[in-house]
Amino acid sequence: MTATPSSLALLHELIAFPSVSRSPNIALLERIQALLNQAGIASSLVCDPTDPGRANLFASTGPMDAPGIVLSGHTDVVPVQGQPWTSPPFEATQRDGRIYGRGSADMKGFVACAVHTMLQAADKPLQRPLHLALSYDEEIGCVGVRHLLQALRQRNLPAPLLCLVGEPTLMQIGLGHKGKSAYRARCCGQEGHSGLAPRFANAIHAAADLVSAIREVQSDLATTGPREAGYAIPYTTIHAGRIEGGKALNIVPGECVLDFEIRFVTDDHPDDVLACVREKTLVRMQQAAQLQGCTTAPAAPAIEQLVAYPGLRTASNAPGVQLLARCLPAHTPHTKVAFGTEGGLFQQLWDKTPVVVCGPGSIEVAHKADEYIELAQLDACDAMLAQLTDSLCLREGAG
Ligand SMILES: [Zn+2]
Repeated sequence: MTATPSSLALLHELIAFPSVSRSPNIALLERIQALLNQAGIASSLVCDPTDPGRANLFASTGPMDAPGIVLSGHTDVVPVQGQPWTSPPFEATQRDGRIYGRGSADMKGFVACAVHTMLQAADKPLQRPLHLALSYDEEIGCVGVRHLLQALRQRNLPAPLLCLVGEPTLMQIGLGHKGKSAYRARCCGQEGHSGLAPRFANAIHAAADLVSAIREVQSDLATTGPREAGYAIPYTTIHAGRIEGGKALNIVPGECVLDFEIRFVTDDHPDDVLACVREKTLVRMQQAAQLQGCTTAPAAPAIEQLVAYPGLRTASNAPGVQLLARCLPAHTPHTKVAFGTEGGLFQQLWDKTPVVVCGPGSIEVAHKADEYIELAQLDACDAMLAQLTDSLCLREGAG
């Protein structure tokens, strides 16, 4: 029998796979599969329907007919181009009690701890199963995990006691995040000589009306929209993030494309917010057209949804949350996180299962140059996961 590699050793290996979203992660998964195999743990891959180089991995150890615990993480990382890294991003560099490297915090640190825990669990007398769910293309809108969830739906596993999404929370207990819906709006106008500008519908002006509507809706949401406690910004937010339009200054622009997103609290629905934006945009465009003396009604922007994922809200008194709390230091804070996760999608699959976001490292350093994780965070995560595993060794009703 070979010794189980430590989480730290695994993290070194994982960082060396440049598993940027949209690029292959299969080599990384095959390495994990080999380790699981050695420990006698079966695993399966659920590949992207269009690209066998990108896949999810699902593995289980322990009796499958009982409710267990799911450890969930994503294997993709964000790109490094244009960031001033002081050490190679795809090479783990250890200094000052930290590991530097792309994905160290978001979220290969947790993935390393989760794999280590699975390998350890293979030798324990589990009464209930421990599952590992690793996804791809999370960073571009929780794209890959949807294929895994589809496959899991067909398996009919007993609803787990707890689904732990190990995104970086500095090991705090994350009980919620907002949902997100992202859109692309195409504003159409008519090209023409700018010397005759008022005769043509200007697509950039239409996009400006859309932006104004977005800002008005945001201001309404901030003053009268539903509130959800626990967030730094406790209401639904909407903002324009990217705009592109026009060919030359002396041509009235015929097209302008605007990307915007809504991050919504539980009591808001993005469709309702979007409907307000559409209505206010149209009112503005009609007013502008009247002022300009246009006789034809302006064309409303064509808005398509780019990505969306649901929000997460987990009750703090759910048994699974209390189980997790017992595996963490006393008085570990509950929190709501400012980023999205796959947690809301897992909650849709298993609506009785508490889904909690809790993992090592800080989101503050994620997606940036010189991303790092403290070694102490890896240790804290290992300790928590070992306790969770031990809880699975107790007979039903014990503990
Ligand atoms: Zn992440």
